[in-house]
Amino acid sequence: MNIFKPLFIVFIFILLGNLGYGQKRAKQKKIQIEINSPSITKVTAVSAFCSAKLSIKDSLQIISKGFCWSLEKNPTINSSKLVLDGKSSLLEGKLIGLIPGSKYYVKAFVTVGNRTIYSAETLLVTQSLADNSNILMGNPSFSEPITSCDSNYLMVKPQYTLSYNNKKRIPNWVSWHLSKEYIGEAERNDDFRGDAEIPFGWVKVVPDYYAKSGFDKGHMCPSADRTRNTTDNSATFLMTNMVPQAPKNNRVTWNQLEAYSRKLVSVGNELYIVSGIFGKGGYGANGYAEYIGNGVEVPASLWKVIAIIPNGDNDIERINGSTRVVAVLIPNNQDCSSKPWHSYRVSVDSIESITGYDFFSNISDSIQVIIEPVVDTLRVDD
Ligand code: MN
Ligand code: MN
Repeated sequence: MNIFKPLFIVFIFILLGNLGYGQKRAKQKKIQIEINSPSITKVTAVSAFCSAKLSIKDSLQIISKGFCWSLEKNPTINSSKLVLDGKSSLLEGKLIGLIPGSKYYVKAFVTVGNRTIYSAETLLVTQSLADNSNILMGNPSFSEPITSCDSNYLMVKPQYTLSYNNKKRIPNWVSWHLSKEYIGEAERNDDFRGDAEIPFGWVKVVPDYYAKSGFDKGHMCPSADRTRNTTDNSATFLMTNMVPQAPKNNRVTWNQLEAYSRKLVSVGNELYIVSGIFGKGGYGANGYAEYIGNGVEVPASLWKVIAIIPNGDNDIERINGSTRVVAVLIPNNQDCSSKPWHSYRVSVDSIESITGYDFFSNISDSIQVIIEPVVDTLRVDD
């Protein structure tokens, strides 16, 4: 009997080994295709950008690949889907036609032969559209209120919304709605001050940084656009609403456009305005500067994008291919005032291309492609 005992043990080892080998083979067969769950960025009210990585053995034939999504869990290729071309193992694409303020489940998929493999699902929540919101047309830089995004930090105030750049110590852009409801009797409050909502540990810019710099504390959302009450007007004097602006730009050219905007309101329109900065280095009353005060960057130019619609409700639905859009790009110097504001009109596309921002991202692409290449040519007498 003793002679069989070692043989028996060897037999068991061979059996175990074979089992293990078999399992390994089966496992290898199963993981021939792997897809990461989609990462989702640039979320608007109607669209989102998706990417996912696909690992696949090249001997296999891909029939189809892309993303699928639905309002219910476990979307399949029978739900809404985006099919992607090409051989890249990086799946990237823009989901469109989404419903504002909705929760979607999104998966990446690949079909090989008669088999479709899905990634794990990712949750996507589209922006909701509140009529008259200061950011109704979209968030141009997909800014988020996350302190790690310190060059594109979203700050939402009742009077305006902005993207703050802690590296430049000025806003990248400020966005606001203007209609007759915001215009009242409040006096100019003139209480320039640091913004208490600047995150802990960041430099809080104070009015002193602009003193003797040769640059004005230039409002993005103007004081005169918020005169319904003292609270509203005072909010426009926060330093997060200011950029170093050449006096001739601020007081002449820029001021003319601000007055023209309120004139449009006085004749029955409401406006969606985004205003911001581009480039580094401007010419103020004391000449050229790239920085003033405690590291406040001086922009090379200022831009503005204005959508104009007659007074009414459901504003986002009333933006269409014939909506008048005025965009300007004005150099931040003392010579800009030699020409009227309207000579600085450009297309929205040209500002998108220099800044990398996307204006009107809450509007369908089919309307954006009509309104964004246009340079406004309507005759302006003042
Ligand atoms: Mn101003
Ligand atoms: Mn756009």
